[in-house]
Amino acid sequence: MYPKSFKKLIDNFAALPSIGPKMAERLVLYLFKEDNQKLSEFAKSLEDFKKNLRHCKKCWNISEEEYCSICKDSSRDQATICVVEDALDVFAIEKTKKYNGIYHVLGGVLNPTRTVGSDNLHFKDLENRAEKEEIKEVILAMNPTTEGDATALYITRNLKDKGAKITRLARGLATGADIEHADELTLSSSLANRREV
Ligand SMILES: [Zn+2]
Repeated sequence: MYPKSFKKLIDNFAALPSIGPKMAERLVLYLFKEDNQKLSEFAKSLEDFKKNLRHCKKCWNISEEEYCSICKDSSRDQATICVVEDALDVFAIEKTKKYNGIYHVLGGVLNPTRTVGSDNLHFKDLENRAEKEEIKEVILAMNPTTEGDATALYITRNLKDKGAKITRLARGLATGADIEHADELTLSSSLANRREV
């Protein structure tokens, strides 16, 4: 039904999360109407994306250099680590402008039913950091979901005797809500009202 190249692009879009076949169709039609220069820029940005980006060697945040701009910033409190599920949570917390520590990106949460175990996530690096860096506080900024709770519990158990105070974001966030979708005010207050666990 579709011309071959048209179909191929639809399939690529439809394979992305949250994009159904109808939306994929509309996006591809939109791109078809764009001029060549815009399309080249789009293709180039995709190419550069993978070429230029990597994980920060220290915190696993998305970075263009070996260490991300947050880890490299000496004006930030290097003794406070905020542990998040993914890089989008870093962006969300940064937008509040209320946090001056550094981060650790786990790359997901513990989810036994989907076979995401502790080996797939960056727990070991977190433990190493808690041992080697002079960490005073570890803030657990997991989403308030069953998996987020399980992950927070796991980290608390493993870091308990490493000397750092362990806190978790206050429950201002509705249960099941995502940190990356929380508004800045809610996120700021749950950060300010974090509790020791
Ligand atoms: Zn970093």
